[in-house]
Amino acid sequence: QAKDSGRGHHQFSTPGVADDAMASLQLQRELHTAIAENQFVLHYQPVVHVADGALAGFEALVRWQHPTRGLLAPSEFIAFAETHGFISHVGRWVMREACRQLKAWHDAGLPRVPVAVNLSAFEFRQRDVASEIAAVLAETGLPPQLLEVELTETVLMQQSEQVLQTLQSIKALGVGIAIDDFGTGYSSLSYLKRYPLDKLKIDRSFVMDTPGDSDDVAIVTAIVELGRSLKLRTVAEGVEQPQQLALLGQLRCDLAQGYGIARPMDAAQTQAWLEQQR
Ligand code: C2E
Ligand code: MG
Ligand code: MG
Ligand code: MG
Repeated sequence: QAKDSGRGHHQFSTPGVADDAMASLQLQRELHTAIAENQFVLHYQPVVHVADGALAGFEALVRWQHPTRGLLAPSEFIAFAETHGFISHVGRWVMREACRQLKAWHDAGLPRVPVAVNLSAFEFRQRDVASEIAAVLAETGLPPQLLEVELTETVLMQQSEQVLQTLQSIKALGVGIAIDDFGTGYSSLSYLKRYPLDKLKIDRSFVMDTPGDSDDVAIVTAIVELGRSLKLRTVAEGVEQPQQLALLGQLRCDLAQGYGIARPMDAAQTQAWLEQQR
């Protein structure tokens, strides 16, 4: 039997592998085109002050306007872009476009609120992020105080001198640093005192079942308290219900973001939304 599998039908026993390889090559080609032809778009999700609902800023979220498959969410291409060497291109475009757009809105007299850009751990390791950010700020003219980067705990897990230096360089530019999806990484809390951070974004998974789930209420309460003690602002992600916002108000969480407040919107919708705020 083992002899048989050496040739003949053996090569057909795992058809998925060839299919996957083809699909991967196809997607790589498409991403290449997407970068060359600028098929990415940014959506912007408002972040508001819990206390009074006032606009505090936006998070820029990338989408891929695929020529045949429609508008693709980051979950459909970011991880792939990372493993196949495209993420720097995508990431640079996102950073530049977010800064350019915010500056244009400010110049048009719209509220001068900051924008947050997500940086994956991969981007953070691969690139001289701080100099790239400095270059984009210089090129677009966006004041550094109006830019923030969101990093996940994965970035901070590596206790390297280089991580510290990069964070310090970003901070020195005047750019804010937020920890995204806080509480979901497998990291110790020691990085919170080691690194120059500004914000903790409480992961949606802890927020979504509040106020009904008392364990989640306990976790959100603890993170808000931790943030307060460490002088970090806290942002609740994924706020969908008024009762969640009420709880966050009681806990004195600083900021909130979620479908219950506003969904991510394309640039035109965001601009209209901003004009209404004025
Ligand atoms: P994230 O940074 O944690 O962004 C929040 C995600 O939660 C967004 O999904 C947003 O649309 C979604 N969201 C916001 N409010 C709610 C809510 O109330 N309910 C629910 N169910 N979801 C909500 P999105 O845009 O699909 O992005 C997913 C992830 O992809 C982001 O998570 C971020 O990690 C990554 N990502 C997005 N844009 C970029 C980018 O430009 N560069 C990199 N490296 N990663 C990005
Ligand atoms: Mg984020
Ligand atoms: Mg998040
Ligand atoms: Mg998330």
